[in-house]
Amino acid sequence: MHDLIIIGSGPAGLSAAVYGRRAGFSTLVIEKNPMSGGQVLNTYEVDNYLGLPGINGFDMGMKFREHAEKMQAEFMEADVLGVEDSEDCKLVKTAEGDFEARAVIIASGASHSHLGVPGEEELSGMGVSYCATCDGAFFRGKTVAVIGGGDVAVEDAIFLARACEKVYLIHRRDSLRAAQSLQNTMLALPNVEVCWDSVVESINGDGQVSSLTVLHKPSGERRELPLQGVFIAVGIKPNSESFISNIASDEKGYLIAGEDCATSMPGVFAAGDIRTKKLRQFVTAVADGANAVEGVQEYFLQ
Ligand code: NAP
Repeated sequence: MHDLIIIGSGPAGLSAAVYGRRAGFSTLVIEKNPMSGGQVLNTYEVDNYLGLPGINGFDMGMKFREHAEKMQAEFMEADVLGVEDSEDCKLVKTAEGDFEARAVIIASGASHSHLGVPGEEELSGMGVSYCATCDGAFFRGKTVAVIGGGDVAVEDAIFLARACEKVYLIHRRDSLRAAQSLQNTMLALPNVEVCWDSVVESINGDGQVSSLTVLHKPSGERRELPLQGVFIAVGIKPNSESFISNIASDEKGYLIAGEDCATSMPGVFAAGDIRTKKLRQFVTAVADGANAVEGVQEYFLQ
């Protein structure tokens, strides 16, 4: 039996691994894919992580992982199916078998939300993408659209504008929720056009994206924008399906936990984007990893 099993290897999970090892716990990190790393690996540039201005997300993710490996956290790949409370331990159920631990930290993060419009699923991977840093290079010199108005959408538009001929940013309201500094950078770019108060009605193309039908809500006017790529950045949803049957969650599926990361199941903690919180950033995920291990230490003393 391990002292601590951590589910997920993004910033929250890896921070918990470092703190867990520092506390002297035998610590196993279970990740879904090799080097999962979470959303940080798909971030082109991170400019708000203290001490590492402008670092590439992939490099940051690798630094986090190297740190956890240096602390001799163990890693394994498995699809986690759930966590159960048994009398003297927690049981982490996976497709590879069951694993026992004295405590568990769930840090399985969040994934991209989908728009749910015609053409989105059919053309996914054929011009429709959820990751500008992964797929942007395929659209050099081309015209693309980014959908959304948050940090990710605006960061994506800035990133894509460096290589693409033209970038449309399509946002459903008349103001963006992205950080003001990102907005200022994007709005100054000559090849970015913002379509305010606009929603995507369909993504069109035969085997490859060729255009986007956009409705301007106030006027009712429809435009068909000829383009080759559509980057969807309309937020995230928690990767909590395996846990919500026996751990309390909110209406969106986030596991209910405060700053101490304690969930409704004693000895099971939720850290990072998976838990109910206001600000989902790398720095708050990393802080959660530390707080969750503090919670584990207190739980062991009970
Ligand atoms: P977000 O902040 O939730 O923004 C999602 C955007 O998509 C919003 O503008 C929203 O519009 C729009 N949207 C949602 N559903 C839509 C739909 N069905 N149709 C059209 N538009 C829709 O999500 P995010 O940008 O992915 O960011 C996720 C979290 O990661 C945020 O907390 C963000 O601050 C954080 N983040 C942090 C960093 C960093 O630490 N450097 C970098 C990137 C992201 P409304 O505005 O109208 O709701």
